[in-house]
Amino acid sequence: MDDLRRAGRSAVDLAVDHLAAVPGGPVWRPVAEADRSWLTRQPLPGAGRPLADLLHDVRDRILPYPMGNGHPRFFGWVNSPPSPAGVLVAPLAAAMNPSCAGGEHAGVLLERTVVRWLAELVDFPYQPGAGLLASGASVATVIAMATARQRAVRRQGHNVRETGLYGQRPLAIYASAEAHSCLRKAAELLGMGSRYIRTVPVDGAYRMETGALRRMITADREAGVRPFFVAASAGTVNTGTVDPLEEVAGIARECGLWFHIDGAYGALGILAEGARHLYAGLELADSLVLDPHKWLGVPVDAGCVLFRDPVGARDTFSLVPPYLRDDEADALGWFSEYGPEQTRPFRALRVWATISHLGREGIVRLVGRTTRLARTLAAMIEASDDFDLLAPAVTSVIAFRYRSVTLDPAATDALNQAIPAIVQGRGHAFLTGTRLSGTAALRACILHPETTEADLTALLDEIRTAVREATA
Ligand SMILES: *Cc1c(COP(=O)(O)O)cnc(C)c1O
Repeated sequence: MDDLRRAGRSAVDLAVDHLAAVPGGPVWRPVAEADRSWLTRQPLPGAGRPLADLLHDVRDRILPYPMGNGHPRFFGWVNSPPSPAGVLVAPLAAAMNPSCAGGEHAGVLLERTVVRWLAELVDFPYQPGAGLLASGASVATVIAMATARQRAVRRQGHNVRETGLYGQRPLAIYASAEAHSCLRKAAELLGMGSRYIRTVPVDGAYRMETGALRRMITADREAGVRPFFVAASAGTVNTGTVDPLEEVAGIARECGLWFHIDGAYGALGILAEGARHLYAGLELADSLVLDPHKWLGVPVDAGCVLFRDPVGARDTFSLVPPYLRDDEADALGWFSEYGPEQTRPFRALRVWATISHLGREGIVRLVGRTTRLARTLAAMIEASDDFDLLAPAVTSVIAFRYRSVTLDPAATDALNQAIPAIVQGRGHAFLTGTRLSGTAALRACILHPETTEADLTALLDEIRTAVREATA
């Protein structure tokens, strides 16, 4: 134990030194050949080594090569820096090392609280047992869609766990062209067949066109396909757009569809000043997915699915027959009865610590600040004569494009495609690209509490430098 105590103190110093050095270093750097070789080709050690030795390798070979998301000028994908509170308690969760499958211990009991807190933060009606943590939104979406699938098959008088989908008419899923790919992954995994995923077109602001949704549902009905699941986005990854949730909810109700919301990134955007009206209808979802490891900054991994009704997920996943359930002692049962994981990590501790440290007020400040910065970036882009803003600033993702006065459209497209890698390689900022309406776009996602307006200026300057490099 003395070994662990001594090395543990060094580990804390390493972690804090690392976090302190991140803003002054490159956002990202290529892995040196010798280190790449060490990272990928180490032989399995025969003899073991002392704990303190391991830290030297961590310091010299591992910490120098982060993904970049700890840095205030990291604007890529949707990846936040780790919350200090999450970093603080992560080793303690490992020290306890429970399986949060179920039972009577702190890990399980605390998960009930953080799931309720997450629901309260976004004003989702909470019912005990109607939600659980997962590795991320991808798995949370599998849990939600599997639950919806069981409800749809039950309505036909069958149990999908016994009969699978054999003998069923195809079940159709509706999501907009801007929906996250995790929906497709879930649909394919669950045997829904990607052929039955309907891609609903979006309007000029990249919001789901509800008129088209209605027409597609009707057309499927007429063709003998059963519409069963509609997924709206509360914060798309490309533009941060929120779909018209209330309208989608109305159509889902009218047509008997499961109403799912992907709020993995953007559900917390409801806390930004003046944003609440965009989220009207969020409370009507049958399932809502949100990722504490996105905007909230809980160290990876932490996803969450919330349900309107606590019974469905248990009906889908529980292997405990009702006659063995002890509803007196434990009415909600085990978390492992509500999803695919059996041994489950103590994610709740990182979520609890992060929310406890920030408080609701701190979270409102974080969301407000990053959303305002996104507006500022949008205004800077609109005021410039070499960038075009591609979508309104809704949450904290900005989609834009470098505009060239000399290049033709195809060359401009190629240039915009080339920009992210050049910017990343220079190490002063990090952004990623996407495709919007068939053309190459740049996107910047702002999640870091320390990002400033100066960092936004630096980002645009880095892009201009990348353009000069690419066209030289
Ligand atoms: C990140 C994200 C996902 C996928 O979530 P994971 O946590 O990576 O599994 C799904 N939808 C949206 C909108 C996201 O931002």
